Amino acid sequence: MGVAREPLKTITTVGEMQAAADAWRRAGRTIGLVPTMGFFHEGHLTLMRQARQRADIVVVSLFVNPTQFAANEDLSRYPRDFERDRAMAESVGVDVIFFPDAKEMYPAGYQTTVAAPELSQPLCGKTRPTHFAGVATVCCKLFNIVKPHFAVFGEKDYQQLLVVTRMAADLNLDLEIVPGPTVREPDGLAMSSRNVYLSPPERAQAVWLSRSLQVAADLLAEGETCRDRIVGTVWETIRVRPLARIDYVELRRLPDLAPADEEPHGKHLLALAVYFGPTRLIDNTVLSFPE
Ligand code: AMP
Repeated sequence: MGVAREPLKTITTVGEMQAAADAWRRAGRTIGLVPTMGFFHEGHLTLMRQARQRADIVVVSLFVNPTQFAANEDLSRYPRDFERDRAMAESVGVDVIFFPDAKEMYPAGYQTTVAAPELSQPLCGKTRPTHFAGVATVCCKLFNIVKPHFAVFGEKDYQQLLVVTRMAADLNLDLEIVPGPTVREPDGLAMSSRNVYLSPPERAQAVWLSRSLQVAADLLAEGETCRDRIVGTVWETIRVRPLARIDYVELRRLPDLAPADEEPHGKHLLALAVYFGPTRLIDNTVLSFPE
């Protein structure tokens, strides 16, 4: 018989979160963590449901981590709505929202970072050189604070998933990193908290990000295996949209993100980042080339 679940609780301090995690672990309960920056959409909720399926206790962290934003990025205007997020998390059965402020996470004197430099350099690392060290560091801290048995990360941010997986393996962290599928709007646009920044005409053209990836997947399915023709087709499909400015379109080998050969074999990540005005959107798909 199921045990009635307690109402969702908000915890804001590291000490209280660690004490709760210790008590759950002593009681033999499995803890699943979903790290987020809030302003939830169906992508976040899908990861929470995925955690709910296999954990006794689901913790969602909500922290807009300043160290993963560069000075010129959107930290101050990143969308926030705690009450809305709380209600949405409650609707999918989350047990605890861990909601610390920046001083709680980075008190005076804070100086330690962790990084996976090779995986952090290409793709988004080119325009955001400090981003993944910020991500790896905050995730390492969250793992030590929430003490999860597993943490769920979306494939929407595939490079982030690879960096965190590498970091957890390299530092022998005792948890499993679980990938979750990218959730899309009905027209294919990958859901993102940043989609609210888009004007209606930008939103209309943003659909070409996912469509261009689909064109590439179709090409490969028809037997096209030339790297440059696949990448070039994606590039051209987006370039002709007047409001889009391409940051990158690249094909990289998985799981090390090495540059793809001209005729690739095996699994590769086809990833892109595109600006619409100041808003930078990313998307990707995994392509399996013939071995
Ligand atoms: P964020 O709040 O944007 O930092 O995202 C928190 C988590 O949700 C990360 O693991 C993201 O990869 C994941 N996520 C964001 N958007 C999506 C999406 N459209 N589908 C699946 N997961 C997502």
